Amino acid sequence: MKLLEERIQRDGVVRGTDVLKVDKFLNHQMDVELFSEIGKEFLRLFEGEKINKILTIEASGIGIACVVAQCFGVPVLFAKKSKTKNIAGDVYTAKVESFTHGRVYDIIVSKEFLGPQDRVLLIDDFLANGAALMGLITLVREAGATLVGAGICVEKAFQPGGEMIRKMGVRVESLAKVRSMSEETGIVFCTEGE
Ligand code: 5GP
Repeated sequence: MKLLEERIQRDGVVRGTDVLKVDKFLNHQMDVELFSEIGKEFLRLFEGEKINKILTIEASGIGIACVVAQCFGVPVLFAKKSKTKNIAGDVYTAKVESFTHGRVYDIIVSKEFLGPQDRVLLIDDFLANGAALMGLITLVREAGATLVGAGICVEKAFQPGGEMIRKMGVRVESLAKVRSMSEETGIVFCTEGE
């Protein structure tokens, strides 16, 4: 998606070798007009899939997922990061290793809000090693819901998550795919179809 790539080039900041900060428009301050364009693009890509629920993960995915859900006209559900070890039986749970914080935590969704009747689109801001997405996929499977696919804003294609999850047969659509990046050379995007 040209608009998103241009925005990343303009306002994205590379930290070290593998972290892209997009606090100016996505992760801290949020450009909802851009979110709206992103939502329309996901709607175009997943048109006709009868999606009836958007699922994302706390916290940075929530803003974008809300706007996407509005475009689809469906509710948005977010997996909560659970602090309690002793989890009651009325939730689905999965473990996620955080890319940004480097620790493992549990995510949960209530059984009340996800079930076999649901056709789910996963939405997240970034795809890196794939742990967040794997956690969400686990929740969808536990619930017996149908996984339609995943819509990602920024995929770092030099990290293994995208390939791993596509190999599982899950449809992953990324609007901006970073082939390589560094503080010195900046950000290089994959070309169409790459
Ligand atoms: P994964 O689980 O695929 O390794 O990482 C995805 C999650 O980590 C996303 O939900 C996102 O919040 C965070 N993340 C991963 N890489 C980056 C990055 O380069 N920049 C930012 N801002 N967040 C990232």
